[in-house]
Amino acid sequence: MVLCDLAQSADATSNIDPTAWLAIAVLALCAVLFGLWVRILLLKNKQLQRELLDAHQTALSDPLTGLLNRRAWSRFLDELAIQATHNPQSTQNLWMIILDIDRFKQVNDQFSHRIGDEALTEFSMRLRQAFPSAHLSRIGGEEFSIIMRSNREQVINDVKRFLEKIDQRPLELPSHSVHVTCSAGAALCSPDSLSQDWFQRADLAMYQAKELGGNQAVILASR
Ligand code: GH3
Ligand code: MG
Ligand code: MG
Repeated sequence: MVLCDLAQSADATSNIDPTAWLAIAVLALCAVLFGLWVRILLLKNKQLQRELLDAHQTALSDPLTGLLNRRAWSRFLDELAIQATHNPQSTQNLWMIILDIDRFKQVNDQFSHRIGDEALTEFSMRLRQAFPSAHLSRIGGEEFSIIMRSNREQVINDVKRFLEKIDQRPLELPSHSVHVTCSAGAALCSPDSLSQDWFQRADLAMYQAKELGGNQAVILASR
């Protein structure tokens, strides 16, 4: 009985209209092509996402040093300000330290602008090593911002140690050893001082450090 059924079904298959076979083949081909098209779309989408991410990172990073650029820094301050409106506590123990390399023009004049660029890159590396978990940006030619959550004593210690290390260990570049010092100003954040005022206080403190002769740090008392 089973043999008979099989024979009948084989018979039925061979009886299918050739145009039906053709339709099945076309449908199968369409399915394969559709699968390929979806795969290509997914790959393209992934590639676009990667390019978008790259463009986003390029727009926010400083090409010379790899640190965040001024645009990223400014956005970060905006985000902090929004956060502070929802939760004023979020600004607690948040410090901004502005660092400016002393008499950097002399480095360019003495060695060349290219060596000056290398010095800025090496300085940024030293900054990363000293403040690994801080928000670090290059906000001007030879001006940097460090934003970090810490207490006053720790900020004083960290900044003092960084200034000492920069002064004691020259920047080792491929062809030169360049000695620089820098001036630092630090200001504590408060919910109403976010954005401009906070930066202005830290910047003012940095200029006070310059007026003291450079290679100094001025840490502002909380307001
Ligand atoms: P001060 O102690 O008052 O800060 O003196 P300074 O010479 O560091 O500051 P000034 O503002 O007079 O000059 C800044 C110098 O930084 C001049 C400029 O050529 C240099 N500079 C700014 N951006 C770059 C850069 O991307 N590469 C190089 N090589 N030099 C830069
Ligand atoms: Mg300078
Ligand atoms: Mg400057």
